[in-house]
Amino acid sequence: MVAGCLTVKLSPELLQRFAASGIRLTKQREEVFGLLLQKRDHPTATEVFLRAKKHMPSISLATIYNCLDALVDWGLVKQVNLDRAPTRYCANLQEHSHFYCESCGAISDVDIPFDGRWDLPPGFIVAHAEVSLKGLCAKCSAERFVRDGSTGAGGVPAQYPKTKTPNQKRHS
Ligand SMILES: [Zn+2]
Ligand SMILES: [Zn+2]
Repeated sequence: MVAGCLTVKLSPELLQRFAASGIRLTKQREEVFGLLLQKRDHPTATEVFLRAKKHMPSISLATIYNCLDALVDWGLVKQVNLDRAPTRYCANLQEHSHFYCESCGAISDVDIPFDGRWDLPPGFIVAHAEVSLKGLCAKCSAERFVRDGSTGAGGVPAQYPKTKTPNQKRHS
């Protein structure tokens, strides 16, 4: 592969739109953004670094952080922060929430439209809704079902494992 060859070629229209809003994507920023668009598994900076290195062997982790910061500043990429876990990055700009698998750590995008039925104090106006969901992804819940059998009533898959009750929010 030619050195500097980009993983994902951003469309000229997209680049033009960026230029119009004053966003200047360097090759490295374009590469990082392309990687996030290509594989939407919410990688950490280190994971982005390892992926980028395949195409740009000389790129450093500091540069990756720099690129990610710029992309976040421009609103092209969102940071996903889960307690005690390293920040992940998401290039899905549609309003969405995240489902975090507590078994394998996978983060998936979930569409939870805000429908106004939340129990908000009177007078509150929601401008943006982002909910964190935790549990088991399809793969992990299927594995658990196979392992535990149908211990749930009426053949319903076993509920969330007793041994791994979600930690009550630690107030510290
Ligand atoms: Zn996301
Ligand atoms: Zn999982």
